Amino acid sequence: MPLPQIDNLELRKVTEDILIAHQLKPPYYFSCCDGLIILPKKGRNTKTVILDLNIEPNLINQIDYLYGPISNYICTHGHMDHITHIHQWEALSAVIHAPIPENTYLLDLRNFYEGFGFDRAMDFSVVQKFGELNGYQKCNNVNSFKPGVILQFENLIIETIPFFGHSKAHIGLFLPKERIIHISCLGFDQSVPGDDGFGPWYGFDECSLDQYSKDIDLAQSIFIEKTDFLTSSHSYIVKSPDIVPFTYMREKIAKNQSIVDQAILSLKLSDKSEISINDLLELDLFFPKKKMKGFILEIYNFWESEIISKHLERSKFLT
Ligand SMILES: [Zn+2]
Repeated sequence: MPLPQIDNLELRKVTEDILIAHQLKPPYYFSCCDGLIILPKKGRNTKTVILDLNIEPNLINQIDYLYGPISNYICTHGHMDHITHIHQWEALSAVIHAPIPENTYLLDLRNFYEGFGFDRAMDFSVVQKFGELNGYQKCNNVNSFKPGVILQFENLIIETIPFFGHSKAHIGLFLPKERIIHISCLGFDQSVPGDDGFGPWYGFDECSLDQYSKDIDLAQSIFIEKTDFLTSSHSYIVKSPDIVPFTYMREKIAKNQSIVDQAILSLKLSDKSEISINDLLELDLFFPKKKMKGFILEIYNFWESEIISKHLERSKFLT
């Protein structure tokens, strides 16, 4: 069966009855993420289940029209690109599930603000504007679960895999019978093979590079040993045993380390006696902040200072 054509949405088959959906033109950078559509299958699920597909409400309505009714929706973590439009799935009667503690970020943007530590650096109004820009609307009810539990909807089994390097609730979704692992936001963001993206993202205090390495190793072993396909929030479908996603993520982190190391060396050469995060922020090492202003600049400064500080801790050149 050919897949239906939907304007601004790309549908691809992972297997005969599992699709991945990708919004082609998100209105803003953090407003959408790719996710899976688990179609009904005899003996497995009588209604469609959606995994972490955050797309604009009009597209959600079209998915529901084509494949509804939708029984359940699983969110993988509380970052903005995973929480903005979930209210629309809820409005179509899907039960929403999200991992503790970021489940509360879907209910109130203030929880997002405090939970990620924005409150230590900026006013709530900044995050409110960021939420509005990305179309955030809250849900009314969210079922919470502990990362690591196994979820079951009829006979569809979904193992949640903690990948906490990215956030303290962040999970991957492993479908053992379907032999698929969805690594969510771990950091494989090549939209086509060979593409270059940002890679793993660790712009909050709670993120950890040590944990990231363990997460990448774990994802790789599940992928190689137990699955045929890997999908993620921002990438193409990868077939086992291709290890490109894992080498890409490891190399990105190593490259970021060398970006910070080089910057420290050049500041030292310019006879700077003490190097501060602000000196490094001014160099626009990770984001083009000189082109930004207002609340966007505040947010990117916050993120980049966290990314830099992770690499400062590891730098050999800061003694
Ligand atoms: Zn994320």
